[in-house]
Amino acid sequence: MTMLPPPPATRPLGASGLSVSSIAWGMWRMAEGGRTATDAARLVHTALDAGTNLLDTADIYGFDGAGGFGDAEALLGDVLATEPGLRGRMVLASKGGIMPPLPYDQSAAYLNAAIEASLKRLKTDVIDLWQVHRPDILAHPQEVARVLDDAVAAGKIRTLGVSNFTIHQTAALNQFLGHKLVSTQPEISPLRIDCIENGELDQAMMLGLTPLAWSPLGGGRLVNPESARDKAVAAELDRVALAQGVSRSVAAYSWLMAHPAGIIPIIGSQQAERIVEGMSAFGVKWSRTDWYAVLVAARGVPLP
Ligand code: NAP
Repeated sequence: MTMLPPPPATRPLGASGLSVSSIAWGMWRMAEGGRTATDAARLVHTALDAGTNLLDTADIYGFDGAGGFGDAEALLGDVLATEPGLRGRMVLASKGGIMPPLPYDQSAAYLNAAIEASLKRLKTDVIDLWQVHRPDILAHPQEVARVLDDAVAAGKIRTLGVSNFTIHQTAALNQFLGHKLVSTQPEISPLRIDCIENGELDQAMMLGLTPLAWSPLGGGRLVNPESARDKAVAAELDRVALAQGVSRSVAAYSWLMAHPAGIIPIIGSQQAERIVEGMSAFGVKWSRTDWYAVLVAARGVPLP
């Protein structure tokens, strides 16, 4: 049986020269439930000690529909202010461009202010990877590129990425950028296979973008599947998980990591033991047969 190659411990972040762990940790849910800076520091330590060095946040994380904008960045900023040595251990990724109640804003004035505000909240001089969170239909990519290139030139941002962009939106922005994109962050999970089939990952390979998978467990849906399709996907993951002595979540991370585009799943759990458990994804082996069986379950129809 042909086995797929195991994932490397680290991967290059596009052509940035930065090396990142093949599994990242995300802080979308970090500011939930009034988590203290002490508790947040414990999670940051757990993630770094477990072997992740790519930490993903965004200015909107913490926003609950009414308030909380910036809270997740601010919490991490407090952690970094208390323990400045942590900053050098992480590749710090953040995002901006969604300003409630206006859906998306990538005007020059807004982007410049958003980047400055993120730096201030994170209490850092530079953001290693700054991602446009969602495309603003009303912003010309040439104008967005100019602002982002200026931010890189000014040393505020080290590298650039996009999230939730279509293939053409990614290509258009990249075309105008002097400092080319190094990453893309779509939703990817065994329950969300769009970008595996619609060409987004092929574009990532073509442009040398590192794909970061948001909600790799479908936001937790994979752990508690309800629909027939979700249950079928879970069952295919469970076959491999049971045979190799890991959980379904770990099998899901490793399934993503086996894709040749070098997908980096962003673990979303805010529970220390689940972050640590995620690292066993490096040991899971996938045959082509098993990998495609998960894909077919997710498609809901056989391959042609
Ligand atoms: P996820 O891994 O799909 O879901 C995590 C959720 O599942 C958590 O609420 C977690 O709860 C729960 N869960 C239940 N059982 C679990 C288990 N056994 N192992 C792990 N988690 C379990 O990821 P996500 O939080 O939705 O997203 C991950 C990251 O992607 C975010 O932190 C953020 O960095 C990024 N993201 C980006 C975008 C974007 O638009 N770019 C959108 C969404 C997310 P516990 O915390 O209790 O474990």
